[in-house]
Amino acid sequence: MALLRVSDLRLYYATVGGVLPAVDEVSLIMEGGEALGVVGESGAGKSSLALALMRTLPRNIALYDGIIEFEGVDCSKLSDEEFRKRIRWQRIAMVFQGAMDSLNPVMRVGHQVAEPLLLQPGVSREQAYAAVQRQLELLLLPPEVFQRYPHELSGGMRQRIMIAMALILSPKLVILDEPTSALDVIIQAQIMNVLKRLKGELGLSILFITHDLALASDLCDAIAVMYAGEIIEQGGVEEVLTEPGHPYTQKLLATVPRLKSEAIPEFIPGAPPDMTHLPQGCRFHPRCPHAFERCRRERPLPFRPNPRHQVRCWLWRGRP
Ligand code: SF4
Repeated sequence: MALLRVSDLRLYYATVGGVLPAVDEVSLIMEGGEALGVVGESGAGKSSLALALMRTLPRNIALYDGIIEFEGVDCSKLSDEEFRKRIRWQRIAMVFQGAMDSLNPVMRVGHQVAEPLLLQPGVSREQAYAAVQRQLELLLLPPEVFQRYPHELSGGMRQRIMIAMALILSPKLVILDEPTSALDVIIQAQIMNVLKRLKGELGLSILFITHDLALASDLCDAIAVMYAGEIIEQGGVEEVLTEPGHPYTQKLLATVPRLKSEAIPEFIPGAPPDMTHLPQGCRFHPRCPHAFERCRRERPLPFRPNPRHQVRCWLWRGRP
C-alpha cells in the first residue's frame, strides 16, 4: 500500500484577475520511506500543492477537490475536524517556507518544540522535554540549545529547530517547503545531511519542495516537475535527470552549471504564463522550441514511457 496517493487534485484560487488554477489535476504516489522532490520555478504551484495536502487553505478558494489517500485513509472523506485530529501534524507535518523566522522570540526554543507534545493527553512535562532532547540529538544540535532563545541561534540551527518541531509527534511524512533557500551553501549542506540522516535512520518520508533541481537530486528518490499548476513530468530521479522526457525539464536541466563540462548554462526563454489567463493547449507552448499545431490547440495528456516515468507532452504521442 502506497503511503500517499493523490489523484486529480485541484486547488483554484479566486483572485481579482480571475480564477487561478494553482494546482491542476495533480496525481502522484509516494511510498513509505521515499523522498519526493517537487521542483519548479516560483509560482508553479509547489507551495499550493503542499497547502492542499495539509488542508491549510486560504480563504479565497474557488475550487478544492480530488482524492488524497494517506496510509489507506481517503482524506477527502474526513471532516476538517477529523483531518486536524488524525492527520495534520500527527501523520503529515510541514515546515513552511520562511518558518524559522516565526519562532516566538521570548520563549526558549526547547519549550516551543515541546508544545505540540504537551497538548497531547497524558504526556507529562518531563516526557515531553526528554523527547525534545532526543530530537535535538537526532538533528545534531547540542543539548544546551534547549534553553536558548531564537535570537541566540544561527539560521541553520533555527531551521533544524523547525524540523524538530515538525517531527516531535513522529509523523510518517514531512513536507519541507524550500527549507534551505534562506541559508548559505555551507549551512545548506548541513541541513541536507541532516535530512538524509532522518530519512535513513527514521525511515521518514519527505516531500521536498524546491526550485533547485540539483538539490532535489541529492536527497530524493523521485522527482515531480511542476509548471503552471501541473506536474509535467515525474519519475525516478535517475530517469528524470538522465532521460528527461519533457522539453521544460530538459531546459531546466540545461540551466544547471556542470563542474566537469565546458558547456555554458542555458536560460529558459520567455516567462511562465499569467496563471489567470493560461494559454490554450500546452501551458509551456509559448516557450517550447518543439511546439507544433496540436500543442497550441489541446492540453497534453499524461503519457508513460515506462511504469515509473510520466510525461505530459504531445511529442510522446507522435508528431503529426
Ligand atoms: Fe512542447 Fe508541445 Fe510538448 Fe508542450 S506538448 S512541451 S509545446 S512539444
